[in-house]
Amino acid sequence: MNPDMILLRFGEFTVKGKNRDKFDKRITEQVRKAVAGYARAEIVRAYGRIYITLNGEPYEEMAVKLKSIFGIASFSPILRTTSELEAISGAALAVMQALPKQPETFKVSVRRVDKGFPHDSQEMNHLVGGHVLRELPGLKVNVREPEVELRVEIQPEGTYVFSSVVPGAGGYPYGTNGKAMLLLSGGIDSPVAGYLAMRQGLELEAVHYHSYPFTSEKATEKVIDLVRRLAHFTGSSIKLHLVSFTDIQTAIAQCNHNSLIITLMRRSMLRIAEQLAEQREAHGLVTGDSLGQVASQTLGSMNVIGRTTVLPLLRPLVTMDKNEIIRIARQIGTFETSILPYEDCCTLFVPKNPTTNPNLNIVENAEAGILNLQEMIRQAVATVETMNITPEIQSAVESAGQDDWF
Ligand code: ATP
Ligand code: MG
Repeated sequence: MNPDMILLRFGEFTVKGKNRDKFDKRITEQVRKAVAGYARAEIVRAYGRIYITLNGEPYEEMAVKLKSIFGIASFSPILRTTSELEAISGAALAVMQALPKQPETFKVSVRRVDKGFPHDSQEMNHLVGGHVLRELPGLKVNVREPEVELRVEIQPEGTYVFSSVVPGAGGYPYGTNGKAMLLLSGGIDSPVAGYLAMRQGLELEAVHYHSYPFTSEKATEKVIDLVRRLAHFTGSSIKLHLVSFTDIQTAIAQCNHNSLIITLMRRSMLRIAEQLAEQREAHGLVTGDSLGQVASQTLGSMNVIGRTTVLPLLRPLVTMDKNEIIRIARQIGTFETSILPYEDCCTLFVPKNPTTNPNLNIVENAEAGILNLQEMIRQAVATVETMNITPEIQSAVESAGQDDWF
């Protein structure tokens, strides 16, 4: 049985005064896009809520799409009936019978918004509950910890019956909290950092450093693929800036500060990203750093590396452990691509003993000793290659269809 409608719920942003309109507009736009392929589905706004009327369009497919829209806190597939006791009891029973697994306990929670309805909430709990209990022998009421909470909302325009509350992606609608540049390698971490930044409402443009001919076309294709996955969550597209890092990397590798190579590379990367951010009117830089994960991500390294930029450096993964990061990478569909074995520019000249506690003075002196470093950085920015990456047709989130209905 297909539900009649889907009720969408939003996060805390719905109460945030000034920004509310922006959020509202953006989320409606995103939902409209998700629904666009289904001719019979309609978006209905009522009393500050958004519903999708399915008119026979498939719920499960749409649920997969809704799960990737940032700003949706949760949603519920619902049956809609007229506000008459018999119809409501019938719908309540239908919702219970459609559960994939019959529960042992349940409770009914009625909300009577339409005060003109003749029975109050308490009476309705008993009336509807009684009907379900009579029809489903073996089922018991448990008010404190029911396996299923059967919800009935009696609204002026009709009554909604549902039991399932499907968690959404949460966060803020994409692009409602400003724009930042994402430093995107081909690894596991930075795509996850990008996802979390986007979920918090940041619009992103990705920057990737490659070292042709040391790094292969395949490595770049892999990054394009990752951006494509991330673009899926935007409802539109993401710009990818490909930066040639070969000259800078070669110069750094030759500068006789073996243990500082990664530190120096990261600093140059940030400088380039900052210049691109200025051009693109972005106000922050997002990286996949996670505290202590490698030598360049100790607090000491982060300090010396981060000093190159005045823009806020956002590190969504900074306190996450690797397993958590991998779990999200799998969930958002970037993991399999990230583990493809193509060389990244940073893995090329990895020193044997990278420093975990670089000294800022020594690092600055080393940079001063690299001939034309600033010029090479300017050149890298000037020759950047920009692509607009649109989402893949296929969905990145695969699990929504397995959730319970109602
Ligand atoms: P990731 O899995 O994101 O590559 P990592 O744990 O391998 O992270 P590093 O390789 O040390 O860590 O990189 C730290 C961060 O620096 C990355 O998360 C990314 O934001 C940025 N970065 C590293 N290499 C590149 C690159 N080639 N292009 C763009 N950003 C990069
Ligand atoms: Mg990496």
